[in-house]
Amino acid sequence: MAKVTINENVCKGCGLCAEACPKKIIELTSERLNSKGYYPAQVIDMEKCIGCAMCATMCPDSAITVER
Ligand code: SF4
Ligand code: SF4
Repeated sequence: MAKVTINENVCKGCGLCAEACPKKIIELTSERLNSKGYYPAQVIDMEKCIGCAMCATMCPDSAITVER
């Protein structure tokens, strides 16, 4: 199973990773802000991740690391 790590404090909550994910398992949080005052992205169902790294490719701030 792939492992996706999102560096929440680098994330600016743009949502591009969520749009890019073919499995639709990334969402922006709605309950907590990061240190920059944005709602960071989170993976909601890591079990479904296929390790395609589309999310990491799309992220303009290189906040996402994908290991597989
Ligand atoms: S690696 Fe692919 S499937 Fe996994 S969270 Fe990123 S975009 Fe979605
Ligand atoms: S693409 Fe990067 S900056 Fe934008 S929401 Fe996703 S992790 Fe955050």
